[in-house]
Amino acid sequence: MNRRLSPLFLKEDATGQALFASRTYRPGEIVVDFVEVEWRPKRDRYTVEHPSGLHLYDQVLASVSHSCDPNCQIDLQGRVLVALKTIAAGEPISFDYQTTERRFAHPFDCLCGFSGCRGRIG
Ligand SMILES: [Zn+2]
Repeated sequence: MNRRLSPLFLKEDATGQALFASRTYRPGEIVVDFVEVEWRPKRDRYTVEHPSGLHLYDQVLASVSHSCDPNCQIDLQGRVLVALKTIAAGEPISFDYQTTERRFAHPFDCLCGFSGCRGRIG
């Protein structure tokens, strides 16, 4: 599956490859859709937990960073990542991994910089 990323782009950041906006998104706008996914029986650092107990993998979604003050929210029923607030061009795309994962295959120290950052995730 090869999808056009525009208006998003990938760039290396402190945590690896991250997804960035190349245009402005308004609250409620779909930023990423992930209708066709690969289902994995076990969680890993790139999967998103589905309420069914399976873990879905999508190449673009796997590049979305975690933030304790995210600019997007994941909608597992609609299979979309939706903007929660206005996202400016050049901003990293993020969601809160703890909204989907009950446990973490790879706990990590969050670097989101938000004043209410939870620090250790997982
Ligand atoms: Zn954080």
